[in-house]
Amino acid sequence: MSGIKGKVIALTGASSGIGEATAAYLAQRGASLVLGARRKDRLDTVVERITAQGGSAIGIVVDVTRREDVKRLTDAAVDHFGRLDVLVSNAGTMAVSPFDELRQDDWDAMVATHITGLLNGIGAALPIFRQQRSGQFVNVASTAAYVVKSPQGVYAATKTAVKVLTEGLRLESGPDLRVTLVSPGITDTEGVGKGASPETAATMIQLRDEIAMPPSAIASAIGYAIEQPDGIDVSEIVVRPTVQA
Ligand code: NDP
Repeated sequence: MSGIKGKVIALTGASSGIGEATAAYLAQRGASLVLGARRKDRLDTVVERITAQGGSAIGIVVDVTRREDVKRLTDAAVDHFGRLDVLVSNAGTMAVSPFDELRQDDWDAMVATHITGLLNGIGAALPIFRQQRSGQFVNVASTAAYVVKSPQGVYAATKTAVKVLTEGLRLESGPDLRVTLVSPGITDTEGVGKGASPETAATMIQLRDEIAMPPSAIASAIGYAIEQPDGIDVSEIVVRPTVQA
């Protein structure tokens, strides 16, 4: 199957930012969506907007760090729409800070969200994809997976792990599955600076306000990878503002 229309797509981190924009982009092109995030009110708003515009979406409250939550998300796709064609693992947190501040809860959250969360998605979707003999993983990393900046060591490490896990999965995926890494540069979302130490947050927000891309730039990159015909695997896309180093 090529194109986006008619595909059943589960997407984490759909309550704001890149995930919300991607949900809107895919819904406008005829996908059936199963959207996951923790904030039920924000998720409901996204689902209501899509539905009001004639799209097809359901929302499932999901914490990606919990294996059973992610399984509920992928199972909901099969229960409601009969199959799962794509899992977009986008949930993330940019709570960056200098090591000396010892914000170990934030370190743990980045490891749990980006690494355990991604593995929970693979564990939940892979058996479905194998049984269907088709499916696609789209994993959202970052330009931080390519260049480490201070004070983003933990964030960059976990996003590098996303990149490595994605390539490892691709190597084992065989002819029926597709595996795509999408790495955004700085993008205009509420997540930039959120949870970061105050000085770092101020720097990040200033940079965002000066040079960030709209989240639609990432939505269309994800859409491009999804709409390719079966057998065509867009393995890796990096999208950054021209002025980003
Ligand atoms: P947002 O903060 O707007 O979005 C993050 C999303 O992830 C929210 O929907 C949030 O929802 C969800 N989320 C966070 N933790 C969890 C969790 N444990 N379980 C389920 N959902 C979770 O930021 P962005 O849209 O910018 O971020 C999206 C992705 O893009 C992230 O992976 C981020 O690292 C990546 N990225 C962003 C860049 C940028 O400049 N904006 C640059 C490079 C990469 P909720 O809180 O409701 O659970």
